[in-house]
Amino acid sequence: EAKRAGRGTLCFFDPDLDQVTRDRHVLGADLRDALALDQFELHYQPVYAAVPRQLIGYEALVRWRHPTRGMISPAQFIPLAEETGLIHILGAWVLQTACHEAATWPEELQVAVNLSPTQFKRDGLVKLVQSCLERTGLHPTRLELEITESVLLDETLANVSILKQLQAIGVKIALDDFGVGYSSLSYLRSFPFDKLKIDRSFVTEMPASREAAAIVRAITTLGHSLGMITTAEGVETQDQLDALRKEHCDLIQGYLYGRPLPAAQLVHKVNKVS
Ligand code: C2E
Ligand code: MG
Ligand code: MG
Ligand code: MG
Repeated sequence: EAKRAGRGTLCFFDPDLDQVTRDRHVLGADLRDALALDQFELHYQPVYAAVPRQLIGYEALVRWRHPTRGMISPAQFIPLAEETGLIHILGAWVLQTACHEAATWPEELQVAVNLSPTQFKRDGLVKLVQSCLERTGLHPTRLELEITESVLLDETLANVSILKQLQAIGVKIALDDFGVGYSSLSYLRSFPFDKLKIDRSFVTEMPASREAAAIVRAITTLGHSLGMITTAEGVETQDQLDALRKEHCDLIQGYLYGRPLPAAQLVHKVNKVS
């Protein structure tokens, strides 16, 4: 009995863990075929100006419609795509598809695309962005690329150079999930972002938490004094919206204003002010 308990603590023999590992292998193999089988789709979540409320564009969020498991969240398969290297072709597909769809929208609307830090590890990212814009005819200023601070963690100089080349084309660069992770303020010094996206974890605690409100205020003030605009992510309630307006947050994104939807279901109410 003691021997069995002892063995159970060794992870190599844990049947559940083994199952998880095997599951990742199967999912990884499925992922390799998913592009060819046309199982990825982009959903678009609206982004609104806080005051007055006005649609300014959408963030593209990738979805995997798995034949037997249903919709799989990007939080599950993006890390897998990064490990296997598939992120390079998946990322190119996302960029091309988002630019293609956005080119059909009213021209005042922008599209934001998430980039994985892995995509910076291979040459040709600037060329890829450029060719997506050329092929689709989307004006560069209508494209925003969202990165996380991990892009500036290693290879800082090389990646800052890539980001500057992208900005030189006219593309906007946003820093996603700001305030969590390492979040050293020196990232803001190393690159002139166009936008800071305040992480949902702060927004969720507003307005009840005075600490969260103070952090949001600090990020907004800092961003503005550096010439950046701020977006609040994950806004779900009117109370949160009111608090964010009070802190002069520029843009609002969250379930309160809209969930991510397939392109065909979007209604572009560009002049709606309320
Ligand atoms: P993210 O870029 O920070 O995207 C915001 C996430 O918050 C999305 O989750 C969105 O659906 C969710 N969200 C938006 N509003 C609310 C809200 O009011 N409440 C709550 N609870 N959640 C909200 P999603 O679509 O599952 O994506 C998760 C992450 O996966 C993204 O976080 C992004 O880091 C990554 N991701 C998504 N699409 C892509 C892609 O095309 N390429 C890459 N590299 N990463 C992607
Ligand atoms: Mg994002
Ligand atoms: Mg985010
Ligand atoms: Mg996030």
